[in-house]
Amino acid sequence: MSDSQVSTAEQRVIDAVHPQLFIGGQWRDAEAGKTLPVIDPSTGATLVETADASVADGAAALDAAVSAQADWAASAPRDRGEILRSAFELITEHADELATLMTLEMGKPLSESKAEIAYGSEFFRWFSEEAVRISGRYSVAPNGLTRLLTLKQPVGPCLMITPWNFPLAMGTRKIGPAIAAGCTMVVKPAQQTPLTMLRLAALLAEAGLPDGVLNVVTTSTTGDVMGPLIEDPRLRKLTFTGSTPVGRSLIEQSAKGVLRVSMELGGNAPFVVFDDADLDRAVDGAMLAKMRNVGEACTAANRFIVHESVAEEFGRKLAERMGAMKIGRGTAEGVEVGPLIDQTQRDKVADLVDDAVAKGATVVTGGEKPSAEDFGSDAFYPPTVLTTVSRDAKIWTDEIFGPVAPIFTFSEEQEGIDMANDTEYGLVAYAFTQDHARVVRVYEGLETGMVGINQGVVSNPAAPFGGVKASGYGREGGAEGIEEYLETKYVGLAL
Ligand code: NAP
Repeated sequence: MSDSQVSTAEQRVIDAVHPQLFIGGQWRDAEAGKTLPVIDPSTGATLVETADASVADGAAALDAAVSAQADWAASAPRDRGEILRSAFELITEHADELATLMTLEMGKPLSESKAEIAYGSEFFRWFSEEAVRISGRYSVAPNGLTRLLTLKQPVGPCLMITPWNFPLAMGTRKIGPAIAAGCTMVVKPAQQTPLTMLRLAALLAEAGLPDGVLNVVTTSTTGDVMGPLIEDPRLRKLTFTGSTPVGRSLIEQSAKGVLRVSMELGGNAPFVVFDDADLDRAVDGAMLAKMRNVGEACTAANRFIVHESVAEEFGRKLAERMGAMKIGRGTAEGVEVGPLIDQTQRDKVADLVDDAVAKGATVVTGGEKPSAEDFGSDAFYPPTVLTTVSRDAKIWTDEIFGPVAPIFTFSEEQEGIDMANDTEYGLVAYAFTQDHARVVRVYEGLETGMVGINQGVVSNPAAPFGGVKASGYGREGGAEGIEEYLETKYVGLAL
């Protein structure tokens, strides 16, 4: 092992990536040879330098997508489906390699990366099946004099901007339906985790995706490079997954070109445990909803809203499980909690905990920043459970994005639902109860795009993923997912 602790096998995985721009089917360096470092969050060491695109490079990627659009739109749906199916199989074949790569650039444990590879690849399988089911309608106008036809056509060239927390799945949720629908695209992965996307691009090319359909641009001057693309009249759709503030600014920018827009933004998920819940099941669900991806998920349970009669027992059981998790470098055997993406994110999480404690919260487990020597970098934070948390604490309103479970209490059913809805976000909510009538009242009353009842994970390629309120609009996955990449055209046919 070197200082950076990258083993020979890990180095082979890094070496398999083209650290370049992928434009028009060609791997190329950025203009003037500029590069940006990709850092291993568990050591702080640079893994590799990748191309740092300029405004001209970004424009070249859109040129390639625009040139490929007409032929791609005219391609046979079955051919598009077969490419996605082959890519699904290639990802599965390369699952271990991709998981190692993802853990190296993002930090999360290998088990989490493997779970993401399995989840993310399923979008290609799902949309390989949807590609051949695009259809229209035919009807007779009420006056009987004309015939009404509707057909679906690809939206056109798309810009896809993705975050670092799920480097593969946040891409495949967009790329899968776009390929199925016949759209070309420019993908801009997060600068902290570009390697998984670059490897995916190579696998898609190997699966037979024609040149120019998918183009990947990595850059450190994101706003400068993306801005002109968003304003280019040839671009027809912008799809973004990331934070709400950046999403808001992109919505404004997209107004100029009146783009089709999909926004998968931040969350502040409530996890409501009623007094009749099966508590062990609720704790199992909480472990998934909180600790999946080390808490760095938009769907992560952010506020545990627990009936006062079971809050103490729930908190104790959850703390036992979270406090026993093994912390360390994500590639090491048996590690369940890796580093957060960087020190800035870690410090943000620590600040939220410190603020809650200053406002009266009790730390049941965790709550202390480890030193850099303990685990290898300044990006680690231990699983933490807080009870007696005040709703004046910032943790009530702010997305945590880390392994911290704050527990708040309620006494009446409607109070629990109102507390769950007391947020500008509306991505997902979880509720645990065994009363069927309550289940209906709860899922009807929650102001979110998704609800998990007695389960701590809702993400499923066959279901429409997305939020309401400040969590965005548009859906990824399910039968709805492909509609985001299709326009409806109506033809009035006179007799
Ligand atoms: P972020 O800072 O908003 O970044 C997301 C992406 O936007 C990155 O590729 C980033 O590029 C890019 N970006 C930043 N500024 C931009 C600009 N001015 N113009 C164009 N692109 C810009 O979010 P993040 O910290 O990476 O991700 C965490 C957030 O994503 C959380 O809020 C989480 O809830 C949300 N998220 C939502 C979902 C969902 O489905 N609803 C899923 C996952 C994550 P750089 O890397 O170059 O900054």
